[in-house]
Amino acid sequence: MDKDTRLKLAVQKSGRLTDPCLDLLTRCGLKLSRGRDQLMGYGENLPLDVLFVRDDDIPDLVQQDVCDLGLVGLNVLEETRLELAANGVAARFDTLRELDFGRCRLAIAVPDGKSYDGSRSLQGKRIATTYPRMLERFLQERQVQAEIVTLSGSVEIAPRIGRADFVCDLVSTGSTLQANHLREVETVLESHAVLIRTPVQLAREKEDWIARLLLRIDGVQQVKESKYIMLHAPRSALPEIRRLLPGSEYPTILPLEGTTDKVAVHAVCRENIFWETLESLKQAGASSVLVLPVEKMLA
Ligand code: ATP
Ligand code: ZN
Repeated sequence: MDKDTRLKLAVQKSGRLTDPCLDLLTRCGLKLSRGRDQLMGYGENLPLDVLFVRDDDIPDLVQQDVCDLGLVGLNVLEETRLELAANGVAARFDTLRELDFGRCRLAIAVPDGKSYDGSRSLQGKRIATTYPRMLERFLQERQVQAEIVTLSGSVEIAPRIGRADFVCDLVSTGSTLQANHLREVETVLESHAVLIRTPVQLAREKEDWIARLLLRIDGVQQVKESKYIMLHAPRSALPEIRRLLPGSEYPTILPLEGTTDKVAVHAVCRENIFWETLESLKQAGASSVLVLPVEKMLA
């Protein structure tokens, strides 16, 4: 009975995606009690359970209908898709949402001091990676023949130990590359976390809960950047002030007691408000400016 009505979501057990995924779920209102074995998290207040696994297994778990949903990096998803295609199997996962965390890129890097002159420089060279399928596609698209050295980890040391001439690895800030005396030269894939689901039609309750979850995720993603701004302004400055407020639709204009030429402006801005904007607002005539975080939003 449980099996048919409770959603099962795969999440990375321990790694870079774990905290942001759990944070997203918490913001969506999910209270999880993690089992003693820590492999399953039971949704106490929603019919959704979390399976904690290695990130590489997440697309397969959805592919095989063990899980209805998965949170995973686009890098892992695309590599799995290509791997399945190479074996003549069609991927059975649909992307429901692109998420604003887990940002990184799959990049090719060359050892410091080595020259690089476009993808031709890769011709006949050895490139170490844990993403052989995506690298293969990248090379094919550029009609470059190179040897792909598939490793299961520690790709960045491959040039130093003589196993490869280049690396193709995940980068976010670039500090790991720098520490290993490598310089980024090509981007193979821009990545971020995504929410995927099985293309199989699920029981009605499950489908309804997915729809609700998506609304909540959209709300969570919107409020992260959103601010509520309140200020006082001369009526004559309103057009300029509206122009300056980033990502706001219709501000609320309220009269101020004791004056006719000044009003209060309240608005939701769907982008962060920086000091520069506040300074421009002040120049335009705004005073008593308050910027508040937005906690929840439902469109
Ligand atoms: P697992 O044990 O689950 O296989 P892992 O070592 O493969 O873990 P992590 O290093 O935790 O994985 O990275 C998980 C995901 O985080 C990556 O697949 C990628 O989508 C994302 N990510 C974001 N920034 C980076 C980065 N700088 N390096 C690696 N991955 C990153
Ligand atoms: Zn992994």
